Amino acid sequence: MPTTVTRAEIASAIRNIPDFPQPGIQFKDITPLLADARRFAGAIELLTERFAPGSIDAVVGIDARGFIFAAAAATKLRAGFIPVRKKGKLPFTTIEQEYALEYGHATVAMHTDALKPGARVLLIDDLLATGGTAGAAAALVQKLGANILEAVFLIELTFLNGREKLTGFPVRSLVVY
Ligand code: AMP
Repeated sequence: MPTTVTRAEIASAIRNIPDFPQPGIQFKDITPLLADARRFAGAIELLTERFAPGSIDAVVGIDARGFIFAAAAATKLRAGFIPVRKKGKLPFTTIEQEYALEYGHATVAMHTDALKPGARVLLIDDLLATGGTAGAAAALVQKLGANILEAVFLIELTFLNGREKLTGFPVRSLVVY
């Protein structure tokens, strides 16, 4: 039975924490959503709504809150789950991608055998802000020759224009600020 949850119901379970983890950041806390069985299941339904089970080979999730949504989406779509992690965390051989932060840069990594060329990929993270993280994750997927069918986010901070860094595949989000 599909769980019918509206985007407004999802938005109402996202808590805003001002000035966390530093002054000026409006942190979007998803833990109330995760704790609500109906809303959490509904969020997974909406994140995966464009795809039938079997039509995606792998759901790629981004460290760390993206893992929660990507893993649940993967079981629903009967797809594998592939983690993109911060550099230095994955145990096997990796490919890496650097991206710019407001001050400095960061690097994400993926196992070299994570995706087969031509694999059909759904990319998921909890939140799209500047797009640096998701853009780097997408670059890793593409380096392995896999195809991103869609990048989907629970939350998008539209004023940061992160979408501009994500080209060549559809980008969708459930709740926008
Ligand atoms: P960005 O690379 O700027 O698009 O940042 C996206 C990543 O940072 C995601 O993995 C988010 O979990 C995290 N993030 C950025 N801004 C926020 C925010 N305001 N609230 C919660 N998480 C955030």
